[in-house]
Amino acid sequence: MMAARTALIAGNWKMNTVLPEALKLAAAVKDASVGAPGDVAICVPFPFLESVSKVLAGSKVGLGAQDCSEADKGAFTGAVSTGMLQSVGCAYVLTGHSERRSIFGESDALINLKTKKVLSAGLKCILCVGELKEQREDGTTDKVVAAQLAAGLKDVSEEQLGSIVIAYEPVWAIGTGLTATPEQAQDTHAAIRKWVQGAYSAAAADRLVIQYGGSVTPETVDELMACPDIDGALVGGASLVADKFARIVNFK
Ligand code: PGA
Repeated sequence: MMAARTALIAGNWKMNTVLPEALKLAAAVKDASVGAPGDVAICVPFPFLESVSKVLAGSKVGLGAQDCSEADKGAFTGAVSTGMLQSVGCAYVLTGHSERRSIFGESDALINLKTKKVLSAGLKCILCVGELKEQREDGTTDKVVAAQLAAGLKDVSEEQLGSIVIAYEPVWAIGTGLTATPEQAQDTHAAIRKWVQGAYSAAAADRLVIQYGGSVTPETVDELMACPDIDGALVGGASLVADKFARIVNFK
């Protein structure tokens, strides 16, 4: 990464842990992050947000949610609003994760509504983009990612972009043990930055933190973080293992 940007390592716990495990893991992340070179966040299941927030109090670890509603409040059984997230101490919300896209059928239009809702609440949004295996193989990765960016960031101002982090997560690398090579990841990160330069400005592109996600481990993080356009990581599986995540947040 470039020295001018602050790295962000974020854990995405997905639908894992029960409360005692969540509290233990959050305490371990808090301890491990004391001397971390960049920012750290954990995106935990909704029921544990408030308790984890108390564990993280006074630390540099930001609290994140994995989803939110595009609506403010009302008759939306099962949904969770950005106001609720804010009231329990959330600073980050993930939008556009490939599991939300594929399993829950979230469209680019819905992801855009959620992204704008996160921003208007004054929270930071980690917007995830990434291509399928077939798209990587047929050479359309940059086109697919550009379309996801254009749709996800529709009507997001340059000022609001300051509260956006992009997570580039090739779908074929998520939870599979297949990490993109540092070259593949760097190329796509550079393409994302170039797209932002065209859609916004060179200054906005320069400031943008772009995380890589997809089977990041203690063994792969340093090489990825050494790439000029990779500014962090969104970590699933390895964020559930205290020792592994501790090493990842303390990348070299
Ligand atoms: P993984 O998940 O690290 O288990 O591949 C990453 C993610 O889905 O955010």
